[in-house]
Amino acid sequence: MSKKIFYRLTLILFPLFFLVSCMTTTTAAGNVGADRKQVMLVSEEEMNESANQAYAEVLAEAKKAGTLNTNQATLQRVQKIAKRLIAQTPVFREDALGWDWQVNVIKEDTINAWCMPGGKIVVYTGIIDSLNLTDGELAAVMGHEISHALKEHSRERASQSALQNLGVAATAALLGLKETGTQLLGIAAEYTLGLPFSRKHETEADHVGTELMARAGYDPYEAVNIWKKMEAVSGSSVPEILSTHPSHQSRINDLQVIAEKVYPLYQEAQKKGIAK
Ligand SMILES: [Zn+2]
Repeated sequence: MSKKIFYRLTLILFPLFFLVSCMTTTTAAGNVGADRKQVMLVSEEEMNESANQAYAEVLAEAKKAGTLNTNQATLQRVQKIAKRLIAQTPVFREDALGWDWQVNVIKEDTINAWCMPGGKIVVYTGIIDSLNLTDGELAAVMGHEISHALKEHSRERASQSALQNLGVAATAALLGLKETGTQLLGIAAEYTLGLPFSRKHETEADHVGTELMARAGYDPYEAVNIWKKMEAVSGSSVPEILSTHPSHQSRINDLQVIAEKVYPLYQEAQKKGIAK
């Protein structure tokens, strides 16, 4: 083999080995088969630290504005549902029970809810009030958001972007240009609250979230209702949550299939009296 070919092969194979070494599975499959391999370049610690910072900022701002946990009954309702969902997370990942989960409600008209990496949840009163959510529908929304955190979708997206930057940096280095640095601060907020999740991530969060709610004793068909309700209100103005969680035509059909699949888990949970 000539030196030139060897050099070119190394150029191709090294990044390939590097990528394979970065591949991981964030969760077990569950009944919905959610064990896709993901490329992770950014560390979980970096993501969580970034999330903790961003979360503290959001809470401090809400506190200053007098909008943080203003209604104890609503806060307790949301926290009770979160607790039931979180209790089911070991099905997908055993470490999640040890996370520092936090659940807060902000009084704001926006139709939104999110869960930052590491289990930092905010539900806005706007989504509860304007969609008149039942407990099951609220469980569907929170289950979906929790699933983004369990699957570490924000970290995966930050990694994809870091990979692109690496490509840019490598090209820049080859061309003798100045290297572009990656900015880690603020990535948790950017990839959880700012940029839209991909269709693949949305489907995955729907699947894992629907299984979580069924296991927690909530009728999984309520997950179908919530996105129907969301579409109904999006005629006048697009709900904030849809800007980061793009809905697609096949979503409701897919949710129906998944609801049917996990329905026996709901029946089992009911028999066990899990909802009591
Ligand atoms: Zn989503």
